[in-house]
Amino acid sequence: MQTNFTPAQLADPHVAESEKILRKCVHCGFCTATCPTYVTLGNELDSPRGRIYLIKDMLENGRPADKEIVTHIDRCLSCLACMTTCPSGVNYMHLVDHARAHIERTYRRPLMNRFTRGVLAAVLPYPARFRAALKLAKLGRPFARAFDAVPALKPFAAMLRLAPASIPAASRMASPGAHAAKGTKLGRVAILTGCAQPVLEPGINEATVSLLNRLGIEVVVPKGEGCCGALVHHMGREEAALASARQNVDAWTRELDNGGLDAIVITASGCGTTIKDYGFMLRLDPAYAEKAARVSALAKDVTEYLATLDLPEPKRKPGLTVAYHSACSMQHGQKITRQPKDLLSRAGFVVKEPREGHLCCGSAGTYNIMQPEISARLRDRKVKNIEATGAALVATGNIGCITQIASGASLPVVHTVKLLDWAYGGDKPAGVPDIT
Ligand code: SF4
Ligand code: SF4
Repeated sequence: MQTNFTPAQLADPHVAESEKILRKCVHCGFCTATCPTYVTLGNELDSPRGRIYLIKDMLENGRPADKEIVTHIDRCLSCLACMTTCPSGVNYMHLVDHARAHIERTYRRPLMNRFTRGVLAAVLPYPARFRAALKLAKLGRPFARAFDAVPALKPFAAMLRLAPASIPAASRMASPGAHAAKGTKLGRVAILTGCAQPVLEPGINEATVSLLNRLGIEVVVPKGEGCCGALVHHMGREEAALASARQNVDAWTRELDNGGLDAIVITASGCGTTIKDYGFMLRLDPAYAEKAARVSALAKDVTEYLATLDLPEPKRKPGLTVAYHSACSMQHGQKITRQPKDLLSRAGFVVKEPREGHLCCGSAGTYNIMQPEISARLRDRKVKNIEATGAALVATGNIGCITQIASGASLPVVHTVKLLDWAYGGDKPAGVPDIT
């Protein structure tokens, strides 16, 4: 694609990067067919190609964002299916990240939209605040229908509906410290405890630590690590996202320098995609560029790391049929497609892949709160395809997808690592049907 940026514009490294990306696009439109918002809404401006044109126009003319571009960029799930499809290697992720930061700097959103985004950014990344908010949401659940009647309050109705009926007790595992390997120590990793996941489902990290310890891997919870920053990053709040990234880079670098790490294990693929991008996000910061690149290179999804280990025979062969839902951040963001399915098969599960596996379930961070109608349509489509497999349960590797699919499915939705932990001698995950 031909671009028309001035030398002065290209002096800005963010614009220069976006220009490089734009020039790669040959506007073939292949990406439209796999874009969930284009498939759902049928509007070219809600396709990757349409959004690329809008971003190009905004950046080239150096103008502030307007209502039209904000509408279409806000509807993008950042699922990155377009990147998997694109034959020209267009890095849509970095382009839309730049566009979102530009929008955040130049566009004044309506009051309620600003308020809702502010609440999400101030609550979700902080486990104590999130836990308190979930308790409040339980009380507010009867008002969800009333909130639905006022368009500006729909995100709050969606929040109330997504809040779980019961909130698990906080896990001691989330506290900083080391969890020793059982038997001969074969490796040492750090685990990202995360922000929303340990509140919604602490059993995911508990199963990860237990499984890795039994496989001879020491797991450390580094002091000072926090939210990966994905949530604010996708809101265009660059400074907040970079502050989270720097905090985690510091925490993991201390562990690297004191004992070494074979990997930084991540159990939520949404976080993994962002941490693997820290090297890019902090490339212009001389104090962090190198450290961040080192951290990104060490970041591994738990299934990606498990696939590198010499696994023993499973302790039990569950024989259950599992529909594997590949989160967008897993298959498109991190290009991890084979390992989770191979591990499940090897552990004795019969793995089925639902139709339209490339399409997002509609979770996408806070998308199911901010865009509840599109999100619900995508969820219903996903659940229909999953249920058509005839599987007894769903396995997936991202807490957002677990919450989203569980809100519409009659099958149990379980994190992949909990099923693997069970097969290799751990506890049976709640809700999993008995083996017949
Ligand atoms: S598939 Fe790639 S090159 Fe083709 S329009 Fe989409 S982004 Fe551009
Ligand atoms: S990230 Fe997903 S929703 Fe956004 S343009 Fe690409 S395919 Fe469409």
